[in-house]
Amino acid sequence: MDYRLPATVVPKRYDVRLEPDLASATFAGEAVITVEVETTVTEIVCNAAELAIQSAALTRDSTVPIHGSITLDEANERARFVFPAAIAPGEWKLTLRFTGTLNDRLHGFYRSTYKDAAGVSHTIAATQFEATDARRGFPCWDEPAFKAVFGVTLVVPEHLAAVSNCAVAREEALGDGRRAVHFADTIRMSTYLVAFVVGELEATDPVMVGSTPLRVWSVPGKKHLGRFALAAGAFSLAFFERYYGLPYPGDKVDLLAIPDFAAGAMENLGAITFRENALLVNEAAAAHAELERIADVVAHEVAHMWFGDLVTMSWWNGIWLNEAFATFMELMAVDAWKSEWRRWTTFGVSRSAAMHVDALEATRPIEFEVGNPQDCRAMFDLLTYEKGASVLRMLEQHLGPDVFREGVRLYLERHRYANAETTDLWKALGDASHQPIPAIMDGWIFKPGYPVVTVDLDGTGLKLSQRRFQYLAGDTDSGQRWRIPIVLRAAVKRGYVERRLLLDGDEATVALPTKADWIVVNSGGHGFYRVRYAPSLLKKLAGAVAKIAPIERFNLLSDAFALVQAGLMPAVDHLDLTARFTAETDRNVWTTLNTSLAYVNRLIGDELRGGLAALVRHRLGEKVSLLGWEVQEGESELDRQLRGDLLRTIGTLGDDAEIQARAREVYARYREDEGSVEANVLPAVIAIVAAAGGEPEYTEFRERFKSARTPQEEQRYLYALAGFRSPELLSRTLEMTLNGEIRSQDAPYVIRSLLGSVYGRGLAWHFVKQNWQAMARQYPESAYTRMFEGIAGLVGAEWERDARAFFTDNKIDLGGRTLAQYLEQLRVAVAFQEREAEPLAAYLSRQKSR
Ligand SMILES: [Zn+2]
Repeated sequence: MDYRLPATVVPKRYDVRLEPDLASATFAGEAVITVEVETTVTEIVCNAAELAIQSAALTRDSTVPIHGSITLDEANERARFVFPAAIAPGEWKLTLRFTGTLNDRLHGFYRSTYKDAAGVSHTIAATQFEATDARRGFPCWDEPAFKAVFGVTLVVPEHLAAVSNCAVAREEALGDGRRAVHFADTIRMSTYLVAFVVGELEATDPVMVGSTPLRVWSVPGKKHLGRFALAAGAFSLAFFERYYGLPYPGDKVDLLAIPDFAAGAMENLGAITFRENALLVNEAAAAHAELERIADVVAHEVAHMWFGDLVTMSWWNGIWLNEAFATFMELMAVDAWKSEWRRWTTFGVSRSAAMHVDALEATRPIEFEVGNPQDCRAMFDLLTYEKGASVLRMLEQHLGPDVFREGVRLYLERHRYANAETTDLWKALGDASHQPIPAIMDGWIFKPGYPVVTVDLDGTGLKLSQRRFQYLAGDTDSGQRWRIPIVLRAAVKRGYVERRLLLDGDEATVALPTKADWIVVNSGGHGFYRVRYAPSLLKKLAGAVAKIAPIERFNLLSDAFALVQAGLMPAVDHLDLTARFTAETDRNVWTTLNTSLAYVNRLIGDELRGGLAALVRHRLGEKVSLLGWEVQEGESELDRQLRGDLLRTIGTLGDDAEIQARAREVYARYREDEGSVEANVLPAVIAIVAAAGGEPEYTEFRERFKSARTPQEEQRYLYALAGFRSPELLSRTLEMTLNGEIRSQDAPYVIRSLLGSVYGRGLAWHFVKQNWQAMARQYPESAYTRMFEGIAGLVGAEWERDARAFFTDNKIDLGGRTLAQYLEQLRVAVAFQEREAEPLAAYLSRQKSR
């Protein structure tokens, strides 16, 4: 089946009038679509899904309407209109009348509900059209290349707010308690960027960014939580106008928090929608990580207004460019806004997460052929966002930031209001840099995987060699090669020597002037590759960790653990290496260390958990006592977040009884006086109290989850409900994922979290097997898919067999190679377990006794 629409008739303009009825969760609509008929036709085909179309009529100038017969093809999400006479080429108006349902699946034109402080339920109608769900809102040519102008009218009850992509042009009272809100015309844009939001919403006062008003919208009573996002939005908007050298392409920017929202946010031009915790926050009571997330998401969506909305990929295979670029620009903007956050260092965590997936046999190239809508959904993953952003950063560093920006400007200038391909960006960057961009980039974009660079001594110099890095390939060489921009730094007698090279063959030698004390490859940390040092080089570098940059320390630990997962380094060597980091000051380095220990915890038997906990206490203890529980003078925001991170890990994974007792005390104090606990410590305290808690704590947290005053508070208590250890309590949490107590936007993630818990995974897996059909019906498709990511936590040969059988027996396909990736991640963990069981047991038993 060809999913692409014929281009014999193309839309130029839509005048869409929609009348949503929130009480009955239905809507009626009319679309007058100005089309250009390219060749004589007797039928017109466009997309429609879950719509009833009552009439289709074609007119030209003032001729009598030609009525067409209507056939809906639900399987292929198409509407076909056949006309009794041949339609001559030229401009026509196609008028369609239709009705639809505001669904509960969080896509298309859907219904979101919330309860106000008095417990009264309210409904909002909102849209989520990307990738292929505009067709659920109105019949349309639902492919990104069919750009058109949209003139939207929403007919709504007098007391409800109505928001769409552009500013309100005029309003008219209809005399029946409703009003028609007419919005100004949009720029020429793709259907997936159209948005409608209707409900009892309130907005902040606008902030003017140049001539563009910017507002934050929320349900009543939460307006005050929009201030931080407003500041982040205003900064980003101004930042991108400067960076891109082009004015904002719309006439206003509204940032809207929607209580039920499947993704994080959606870049509808001028009407950007968010889940509440990605937009609303009480800055004074929020942890650094929570603020960072909001700044990231807001900057990301605003970056899309140009890259994605003004210039759009021609087809979904190009979605990586949209998302990778917006991710890259998000980091750039946040780094410019809050340089003290050191956002590029933190990006190391995301980069290594992408490398984790990309080291699988079941990975895919960043860009690949996308046929059907399900494969298109599978594009929204770590490889698109994080690997994509990583390789763009690598290229930017290779070309130099100014040259790179020049290329981006050329690209936007050339393709604005239109569509473009990856090759168009390479062309623009090539024109700006006079370098052969495709030759450097194609291996990173169109081929799967990435290399490991092996570093050996070669006289006083070095020998570098490359091959593809894959967890399950052992020491075999796939023969695949990349053009790798390598930066390395060697410590010599009088300071440092830096070397830059493009490694494009099997190997290269690098001459160094004198014998180096230590050498760091991937200096600066921007390269998308792993480094495997010869043992003597690793030993020297491990002894010099205090002298290298945080991102380099991060990569050292992260690469070492990846080598362990691939069976290229013994696990105990990695555990020994972590002992070099007890005085570590950088939060991201700690994140990779803690994550690797949590991974090991999932593959050891219960009898070794005490040993691992002792090791965690040993590695973290020194830093935890240094940081203490209270804010110290001169501390940065990152230090505070680090305190929270370390307390959480030592109190949960480290099972530190003293820390747990203290956390209970702190929580009791918090109950009396909320201001008494620092914002970064509180989330850790909640997590620790849950891990060490029982029935009374569970009951309290569940209550607090339901009555939370901010989205962040709600999330903390929600995930704490998955952090208890008693099977009885965890069963209750599982029940809440299906009985409506936990929103369907969150429930799949709670289950994923439980699958990753050594206390909850058995229960959670059983629950998933029993209830997956109900989940498939209730959860938004994208989140339902993500839930299964959790199966990588089922580390055991028996579980692995069971998981494989489950997916085969039930014929579950998650789109693209997603399921194969999840199963292979599980295979990697089980292979690790089998390979390392004995040495790990010996090593961890010694920890216990010391
Ligand atoms: Zn995006």
